[in-house]
Amino acid sequence: MHDDRSLVEARLKRVLEERIRPAVYPESVPLTVSVWTAPGEPVPVAEGLAAPRSPIAVGDAWGAPWSTSWLTVAGTVPAAWAGRTVEALIDLGFDANMPGFQCEGLVYRPDGTPVKGLNPQNQWVRIAAPAAGGEPVLLHVEAAANPVILDYHPFLPTELGDKETAGDEPQYRLARMDLAVFDETVWQLVLDLEVLGELMAELPADGARRWELLRAVERALDAIDLQDVNGTAAAARSRLVEVLAAPAAPSAHRIGAIGHAHIDSAWLWPLRETVRKVARTAANMTALLEDEPDFLYTMSQAQQFAWIKEHRPEVYARVKKAVADGRFVPAGGMWVESDTNMPSSEAMARQFVHGKRFFLAEFGIENEEAWLPDTFGFTGGLPQIIRNAGSKWLLTQKISWSQINKFPHHTFLWEGIDGTRIFTHFPPVDTYNCSMKGSEIAHAARNFKDKGVARHSLAPTGWGDGGGGTTREMVGKAARLRDLEGSATVRWQRPAEFFAEAEAEYPKPPVWVGELYLELHRATLTSQARTKQGNRRSENLLREAELWCATAALRTGLAYPYERLDRIWKTVLLHQFHDILPGSSIAWVHREAEATYAGLAAELEELIDAAQRALAGDPAGGRELVFNGAPHGRSAVPAGGAAVAVAGPGDCSVAAREGGGFVLDNGLLRVVVDGDGLVLSAVDAASGREAVAPGGRANLLQLHPDFPNMWDAWDVDQFYRNTVTDLVAAEEVAVHAEGPAEVAVRVVRSFGSSAVTQTLTLRAGSGRLDIDTEVDWHEAEKFLKLAFPLDVHTERYAAETQFGHQFRPTHTNTSWDAAKFEACNHRFVHLAEPGWGVALVTPSTYGHDVTRAVRPDDGGTTTTVRFSLLRAPRFPDPRTDQGRHRFRHALVPGAEIGDAVREGYAVGLPERRVTGSAESVRPLVELDQDALVVSAVKLADDGSGDLVVRVYESGGGRARGRLATSFALAAAVPCDLLERPWDGTRGEVVADGDGVRLALRPFELVTLRLTPAR
Ligand SMILES: [Zn+2]
Repeated sequence: MHDDRSLVEARLKRVLEERIRPAVYPESVPLTVSVWTAPGEPVPVAEGLAAPRSPIAVGDAWGAPWSTSWLTVAGTVPAAWAGRTVEALIDLGFDANMPGFQCEGLVYRPDGTPVKGLNPQNQWVRIAAPAAGGEPVLLHVEAAANPVILDYHPFLPTELGDKETAGDEPQYRLARMDLAVFDETVWQLVLDLEVLGELMAELPADGARRWELLRAVERALDAIDLQDVNGTAAAARSRLVEVLAAPAAPSAHRIGAIGHAHIDSAWLWPLRETVRKVARTAANMTALLEDEPDFLYTMSQAQQFAWIKEHRPEVYARVKKAVADGRFVPAGGMWVESDTNMPSSEAMARQFVHGKRFFLAEFGIENEEAWLPDTFGFTGGLPQIIRNAGSKWLLTQKISWSQINKFPHHTFLWEGIDGTRIFTHFPPVDTYNCSMKGSEIAHAARNFKDKGVARHSLAPTGWGDGGGGTTREMVGKAARLRDLEGSATVRWQRPAEFFAEAEAEYPKPPVWVGELYLELHRATLTSQARTKQGNRRSENLLREAELWCATAALRTGLAYPYERLDRIWKTVLLHQFHDILPGSSIAWVHREAEATYAGLAAELEELIDAAQRALAGDPAGGRELVFNGAPHGRSAVPAGGAAVAVAGPGDCSVAAREGGGFVLDNGLLRVVVDGDGLVLSAVDAASGREAVAPGGRANLLQLHPDFPNMWDAWDVDQFYRNTVTDLVAAEEVAVHAEGPAEVAVRVVRSFGSSAVTQTLTLRAGSGRLDIDTEVDWHEAEKFLKLAFPLDVHTERYAAETQFGHQFRPTHTNTSWDAAKFEACNHRFVHLAEPGWGVALVTPSTYGHDVTRAVRPDDGGTTTTVRFSLLRAPRFPDPRTDQGRHRFRHALVPGAEIGDAVREGYAVGLPERRVTGSAESVRPLVELDQDALVVSAVKLADDGSGDLVVRVYESGGGRARGRLATSFALAAAVPCDLLERPWDGTRGEVVADGDGVRLALRPFELVTLRLTPAR
C-alpha cells in the first residue's frame, strides 16, 4: 500500500483547526458590556457589584497594570435557541498561548455568589442546558489586569512588577463577549480526534496500531460534511468508537492523574493577587467536580485554604463540601510549598505543624505526603522532619529541571542525614501542569525509570498560576485514556491512594542518600538579600520570644502570647514560599516582605522585652542582667538563662605591623591584617596552627560578571567564574576599636558605583574573628563574593542544614560533584583535617562555594570557602538588591564541629541586657552535653501550660546526656512535631526525677512535652 500517512495527518490538523473546533459554538449573539474600574486596590465584592457602570465594547482597551475592573455582561437567550445548550463566552483579551500569568476574572451572579473563574483556556460560563429561549442573562466579572511579566521574550527587565512603577497603560482589549450555542457532539468529536491524533503521533510508524488509528481518523474525516460539521459530527464519532474501545496492553504504564493548579503564593504578582487567584481556581474546580463525577482535585498549601476561608467564604463553603465528599483533596500538610534549603530547623518543622494542624482542624484530614512539586532542592535534614511530622511520603518533579545530571529513579527511598528514609516519587511526566496531551502521557511512560519493577506514576493535571486548574477538556481526554490501546492508562486518583499503591507494588525501591540538589536556580540562595535576612532575623527572634515568654510564663505567670506567636509564625512561614525567600519574585513582593519583616521584628522585640523585664524584676534593683538565648552557655551565662554581667579582664591588643596593616591578638587568636585590609594570617594559639593558606589572603572581596542565560534572579551559570576582579585596593585601613575587651580594624573600599566598609573585630575570650561588612551596592549583573583561602587538605566539608549538617565534596570528580558549584549552608561551613579544623559562620548568608587547589611551591592544598554576598539580576525585579546591606561573617580557626555549631548560634543570637532586681534567671531546662542542642523551648500549642522542648544531636555522632528541669516535673512524654505523644523516637528517652535522660543517634531530634507538677 502506498504511504499516505503524512497526508492524512496534515488533513486532520487542518480540518480540526479550521472547521471542527469553530463548530463547537455554531451560533452566537453579542452581549452588552459595561464597566467600572476600582480606583486603587481591589474592593470588596459588594462594592464592586454596586458600583455604577459605564459602557465598554469589544475591542476597547481596559486594565491599567494591577487594576481591577468590574464588568457587567447582559443579554437575552434568543427564542430560537430553546432546547439547546447555551454558554456565555467571555474573553477578557486573553493570550491563549499562555495558560496563565495574565488577566483573569471571577464571575458572579447578581446576588454576589461566585460562579467560576475566567482564564485563558477557560472562557465559558454555562447559562442553560437546555435553554428555554428568551431568558435574560446578567453576570458580573471581577477582572484583574495582572500584567504579563514573563512572555515570549523572557527575562527582559520590566517596570511592570510593582504598581508603583508600572504606569497606567491599559494592558488588554476586550475580545469575544457573546452568548453562544454549545454543540456537545462537536466538542466530544474534537476530544476524540485530539486523543487519537496525539496518541498516533507517539506510536512507532511501523506499528499496526498507528495505522489503525490513521485509517479510523480518515474514515471519520470522510464522514464530515465541511459545510455542515454540526449535522455530521455524530456520524464521524461513530467511526471512532471501535479504535477508542480497544483496551490498553496489560503491561501499559499506569498513570494516576490528579486535578491540580500549581499556584505560587506570590511570584509575578503580589500576595494579595494570590488570594484572588486561589479563589478563582477553587471556584472553577468545585464547579468542575459537580459536572464531572469521576474527577478528583488536589490543592496544597494550608495558607491558600485559609485565604479562601477569610476572603471568599462562599467559595470556601463549596470547597468544604467537596473536601467532605472526598473529591477536593487537601495535599501536602504544609503551610505553604516552601523553599527547603534555607528555612531553619524550627521553621521547616513549623511548616508541617501549621499545615497539618489546619487540615486536621478544618477537615479532619491528616496528610501523610509532603507535596513540593516546584521547590528548588531538598535538604538532607528534610526526611526526618517529614517523619517527625507524622508523614511518610514526598512528591516533587523539580529535580527533572537539573541542568546536568539525570536523576536515576522516579520512585525511590530518600535517606536523610540521620538515616530516616522517605518513600519519594518524581512524576515522570516531568511537569506539574499536565494537560493530558498524548505527548505528555507517552513521555511519562517512556521516561519512567523504574519500569519492570514498578508500573505507577502520578500526573498533577491542570493549569496553575491563573490558568484556573483542570479544564473540562482535560477531564474528557482522561476518560478516553482510561484503557486505550497504545497508551498508558489514566485514572483520577488521590495522592495518598497513589502512594499507597506505588509503595505496595515496589517493596524494595532503590535508595538515594543525602540532599536532593537541584542543578539549577543556585542563585536563589543569594538574590534579594534583605528578604533573606528578614527571614533569618524573624526565625531567631521567634526562638527568643518563645523561650523568654515560656520562661516568664512558668516563672512569673506572665500570659503566654499564643495567638500573636501563632500569627507571626504563619507570616514567617508564608514568606518562606518558594518564590519569596528564594528572591525570585517581582519588586512589589520583596518591597512588601521587607516592610512585613520589619513589623514582625518590632513586635517580637516587644514580646522578648516584656518577658525579660518580667524575669529581671524591678528596674530599681539596678542589676544589669545578661540574657543568653543561645543553646550554649557563654561568659558565665547559662544557655536559656540570665546572670549578672561580669566584665572579664580582657587582654586584647592591636599593634601596627611593619610594612602596613595591624596585628590583632587576644591570647586565643592572633590575626595579621595587611595594608590592604586583607587577612594574611590567623593563628589559633591552642594549636599554633595557621588557618590562612600560604600565599593567600582571607577576607578578600571578589566581583564577578553575572548574566545567566535565563532565569536571572534564579540562576548563576558556571561560566561566571571565568572572570573575576579581586577588590584589594583600600582607601582606609585603620584601628577602629582598641581596648582590653575588644580590638577592631576598619577597612574602606570602593569599586564601580559601590562602596564597602568592613570592621574586623577580635573580642576577649573569643576564638572568632568577626567581619562586619556594610555594602552600598549599586552594581548591575554582578556577583559579590567574600573569600577565605584556608590551609586545609580535605575532600569534603560540612555545611549546616536543618537539625545537623550535610557533607559536600571540595572536588569536581564527577558531573554530580561539579554541578554543585554553589550550595546552601545555614550558619556554618566546617572543614577539617583529623584533629584540626576551621569554621566559617554567618547569621544570614546561605549561598557559598568551596574549591580546592594544590600550591605549586609547597605542594599543600588550599581549600577556599567563599560566601555569596550580593547579586544584581535585573529580572524580575530590575533593581534587585540595590542599596545598603549589612552582613556578618566570622572565621573560627581551630574549630571542631561542636565549635562550629556553637559559634553559628552565637553570631545570630546576641546577648541582651536588662536592668532589674533579680540576681539571675535559671534556665527552665539545662543539658549537660554540648552535642545535644535545644532548638525550641515553648509552651505547648494546646494551651495546657505544658512545656515543649525540642533537642537534637548536632555533631553527627551518638550523644548521651541529661536534660534537667529547674521545676518539679510531673511527666515527660516524647512527642511528634505536632506535640502529640509519639513512639517513633529511635534513641532513648527515660524520665529521671526532674529531668530526662537522653541517648540520641546521629542528628536525631526529639520533641519532649514536659508537664510541670502543679
Ligand atoms: Zn512554583
